[in-house]
Amino acid sequence: MALKALDIYKLLPKKNCKECGDPTCLTFAMKLAGGKADVDLCPYLDDNAKSVLGASTRPPIRLVKVGVGERNFKVGEETVLYRHEKTFYHPPGIVFKVDDTQPDEEIAAITRRVRDDTLTRVGSELRFNGIAIENTSGSAERFAHAVSVVEQQQAHLPPVLITTDPAALSAALVHCGSYRPLLHAATSGNFKEMCSLAKLHGCPLVVRADTAEGLVRLVKDCTAEGIQDLVLDSAPENLGAFLVRSTQVRQLAITRAVPEFGYPVYLDCEKTGFQDAGLVLGISKYASVIVTRPLTPGPAKAALTLRQNIYTDPQKPIQMTPGLYRVGTPDKNAPVLMTVNFSLTFFTLQGYLETSRVPCFMLIVDTEGLSVLTAVAAGKLNEGLVRDTLKKFSVENEVTHRKLIIPGYAAPISGRVEEATGWKVLVGPRDAAEIGDYLHETWKKEAGA
Ligand code: SF4
Repeated sequence: MALKALDIYKLLPKKNCKECGDPTCLTFAMKLAGGKADVDLCPYLDDNAKSVLGASTRPPIRLVKVGVGERNFKVGEETVLYRHEKTFYHPPGIVFKVDDTQPDEEIAAITRRVRDDTLTRVGSELRFNGIAIENTSGSAERFAHAVSVVEQQQAHLPPVLITTDPAALSAALVHCGSYRPLLHAATSGNFKEMCSLAKLHGCPLVVRADTAEGLVRLVKDCTAEGIQDLVLDSAPENLGAFLVRSTQVRQLAITRAVPEFGYPVYLDCEKTGFQDAGLVLGISKYASVIVTRPLTPGPAKAALTLRQNIYTDPQKPIQMTPGLYRVGTPDKNAPVLMTVNFSLTFFTLQGYLETSRVPCFMLIVDTEGLSVLTAVAAGKLNEGLVRDTLKKFSVENEVTHRKLIIPGYAAPISGRVEEATGWKVLVGPRDAAEIGDYLHETWKKEAGA
């Protein structure tokens, strides 16, 4: 069971020495309870306190790393059942599956697609994560060849190797053993050999069983063999089975009721009989490694967008870095538009400015991600912030005029901004959709005045 802050506090040395980086033992205890600190930061804990606190404050779901280098991905370390309770930390790795019976050119093309395709959305680069190769041929040689075709593309993508045949797996690992592939899967019949291979190559291992008891037993067997980085496949035969089993696993893991469930969950969408629906359900309901057939552009975009939305911290608005941004190639007479660093505001305004075809500057002030209306109401968007941001980014060197367009919802501070900055303040429209007309009509008149 997770300990509460006061229970944790009772186990701390109560020196209030600040060596852990917190002002008091109580604040450290509160951080530990929230999973935001590590017990090792306090040098004065005795062994008993360390082991009690370590077990209780360690994330209930183990962090597992798949792959190496830039494209590796980490899954697990989740602490809640619902995103609004806190946040979900590690987005699922979505990997495209190929069969070892497919022609080499097809396997190579899919690999290059995962290597190169990127979707840019609200300032983030979104990508799929890796390639799963399934040993459908039943031949160890063919499986190893398919894996070598993936590796020849120099994609450095985390591979998932799907076979229950240790001989085939061993042959495939010759080509990618040093890339920390995810091995799928250990079963009650092969776990000893699979554990040996996982240990030899330092790889995470999926355990597969279609009952809760079977999964628990396999986890115990594999950990007894020395494998710590495990992923759970509950072998769901349809979407309903996946939903029930993944929810049970998450519930029992985060309450620490069944520690053997404290590992990330695996889903092969195809095996549920519903490829796209499986993907949506997997992203929404606790799958950490999702294997899917290659997606066409529409579903691919939808999947990346859904994953980004669900794995964005609901308590932190997505923010842009404050600064002076250019739209087109603005000259010294170009308009300067000030707005907040709430990313949705930024990208909406930027989109309309690009459509207007009026080259301009966007001056982004730091309201900690609050929207214009909220930032004005909270007093975060004020004349001092605008003055300091104008200075910080030397806007006076970029344009010869001294006119600043502010959002319509910031009208209440226009007078104070004018006084504090010495710039003439023009109040723009409230709705970003009207900014094009505003620039073509009002700004043109103002610029010519
Ligand atoms: S280092 Fe330990 S004893 Fe010192 S303040 Fe932090 S928790 Fe307390």
